[in-house]
Amino acid sequence: MKIAIPNKGRLAEPALRMLERAGVRAEQQERRLFSATSIGNVQVLFARAADIPRYVESGSADAGITGLDLVAETGCRVPVLLKLAFGRCRVVLAVPQDSAARKPGDLKGARIATKLPNIAGDYIKRKKLHAKITVVDGATEITPYLGVADAIIDHVSTGATLEMNRLRAIDTLLESQACLVARRSTPEVRELRTALEGVLLAEGKKYVMCDVSKAALKRVLAVMPAMESPTVLNLANGGYAVHSVVAEAELLRVVSELKRAGATAILVLPIERMLP
Ligand code: AMP
Repeated sequence: MKIAIPNKGRLAEPALRMLERAGVRAEQQERRLFSATSIGNVQVLFARAADIPRYVESGSADAGITGLDLVAETGCRVPVLLKLAFGRCRVVLAVPQDSAARKPGDLKGARIATKLPNIAGDYIKRKKLHAKITVVDGATEITPYLGVADAIIDHVSTGATLEMNRLRAIDTLLESQACLVARRSTPEVRELRTALEGVLLAEGKKYVMCDVSKAALKRVLAVMPAMESPTVLNLANGGYAVHSVVAEAELLRVVSELKRAGATAILVLPIERMLP
């Protein structure tokens, strides 16, 4: 199986890390075209994020990690099997802060600069704006000040770049994040999806273990959160070990409550994957 992942750009590192956590470690990380992985029959293909939907659609790769926006932009017919919760951004229509335009309808016949001409073209048609698209390769946000465009359609994550360039978003075209795509759902593709799902489920969670005397067990179980039920194991000394999965956000509170309830030898461990 060949998995295409971005060779550079903002999706590259997180995609590689996520695959690693799912148990697929690329042996060559210096971004050759292909790399063998820790799994015998799996190869990684390093490619431009924007080309990955096409490689998957054509069968050059069996699966790929790319952005939802890029799937839309290429118009490739590749099913999105899983959203991966990184590379989140919005594609917005923005105008200079001092523009009179308040809503998309105010941009009839305007010039719009973008790196995403297909998404922009569909939007302009849908909104009947009869606007003219100027395709740029980067730094879209400066085009209004160069007199090249009246508005832009571009990616935004925090909004800081828009702010810095004195632009204001007036509509959101789509919400994007990284995703797993595959042309066909083979057993290997399903395995990969399940492994990545396990990584997503484990995100922000820790495994907590502690020792508890017989007398304190009831109190500890009352404060130990659990996905279903905490695990209780017998210890040789007549006490118990209690294990559970705890959300990182609750960890501080849970650990101090466990201590107060009489738990000892509290261990907090990372969870790589969860497969319920
Ligand atoms: P790259 O241009 O190779 O860094 O990757 C661009 C892809 O990263 C986009 O197509 C989006 O899917 C994703 N992305 C996430 N946040 C942003 C952002 N603030 N600006 C541009 N792309 C973003």
